[in-house]
Amino acid sequence: MKAVVVTRDDPTPQVIEIGKPSVSSGEVLVRVLRVGIDGTDHEVIAGNHGGFPAQSEHMVLGHEAVGVVEDGGDTDLTSGQMVVPTVRRPPASGSNEYFKQGQPDMAPAGLYVERGIDGAHGHMAEFVTAPSEFLVPVPDSFREFGFLVEPLSNAVKAIEHAEASRSAFRWAPETAIVLGNGPLGLLALAFLRHKGYSRLYCLGRRDRPDQSIDIIERFGATYVDSRETSLSDLATIHEPMDLVVEATGYARHGVESVRALAPNGVAALLGIPSASTFKLDGGTLHREMVLKNQALVGSVNSHVGHFETAREALTDTPSWFVDQLVTGVFPPHEIEAAFESDRQNIKAVINFEM
Ligand code: NDP
Ligand code: ZN
Repeated sequence: MKAVVVTRDDPTPQVIEIGKPSVSSGEVLVRVLRVGIDGTDHEVIAGNHGGFPAQSEHMVLGHEAVGVVEDGGDTDLTSGQMVVPTVRRPPASGSNEYFKQGQPDMAPAGLYVERGIDGAHGHMAEFVTAPSEFLVPVPDSFREFGFLVEPLSNAVKAIEHAEASRSAFRWAPETAIVLGNGPLGLLALAFLRHKGYSRLYCLGRRDRPDQSIDIIERFGATYVDSRETSLSDLATIHEPMDLVVEATGYARHGVESVRALAPNGVAALLGIPSASTFKLDGGTLHREMVLKNQALVGSVNSHVGHFETAREALTDTPSWFVDQLVTGVFPPHEIEAAFESDRQNIKAVINFEM
């Protein structure tokens, strides 16, 4: 079967033939339909993030997939069921309390591997196997865009954790800003709209015309250009935010997001920046966070419950959103073109049926 891989000698994604996997007890064989590409994949092929499976000369890429059950084995899943696989799996040392509690997303490094990212083969192949507990059923209508469940679930988790940090008092958030108009930021915006935040904003650094700005405005959100409006000025120019969701990976935003918050607000950080040094008045930041009861929460990955919430949110998301977000659909042999990043490209996807 065909699989899209990088090798230890060659970081260029390429299609190779590998053996079709077979199912063992508790496992399901999934025929992969579509696999999305995101910034993490680019980081993986650049060698900046994750690593190869032990003792393997290649790694199958891809972590955002949708497929159809080919063989449910001895599990409850039957052939023909549309599914989305999760990303984390137990490490070679075996399962641990995080997996047993259904919260592998909270496991520290060393207690998990990530398919297509860190220490395990990914989903960008004609067939994959997975234990049934790592497969989330989705409706047939998700055939073309179900691969968005995984990235959306990352935003769902971050927002859930941020909101949970405000659960000790009566909090009725109305305003939110997403920092970043990449695929993760736009999915987070779609989720906040689904949740009913009444006034939404999204920060980018692009000129019009731009498809991501069209999406922001079609959602009824306000586009904020970071070249004109700093996070410190946001509250004065627009309004203070109850929630900030950072999805730029721009290191300053990690702390500056607090400057955009209303009293009692919370900022959730999703971006994964490289090391970066900058000047900052830490004293004022510290003082304001305390005097305004504010919170800053970091969040990575997601568990099955977040996938299920993402599935619901996608069902409620208008079809034009997916049409505008997915800017390129490529067959596996056009993998190089799929990995080319340019500003017209929001989200590329590999279609194994092409
Ligand atoms: P992208 O790089 O595609 O998107 C980031 C967006 O932020 C781009 O549109 C970029 O604009 C914009 N941006 C960057 N800096 C600024 C700035 N200073 N002002 C305004 N806009 C800015 O990444 P993704 O959407 O895929 O992911 C976002 C981040 O989240 C990444 O760091 C990624 O690694 C991380 N991530 C985290 C996960 C988690 O679970 N925590 C899961 C998946 C991803 P432009 O394109 O114009 O440069
Ligand atoms: Zn991803």
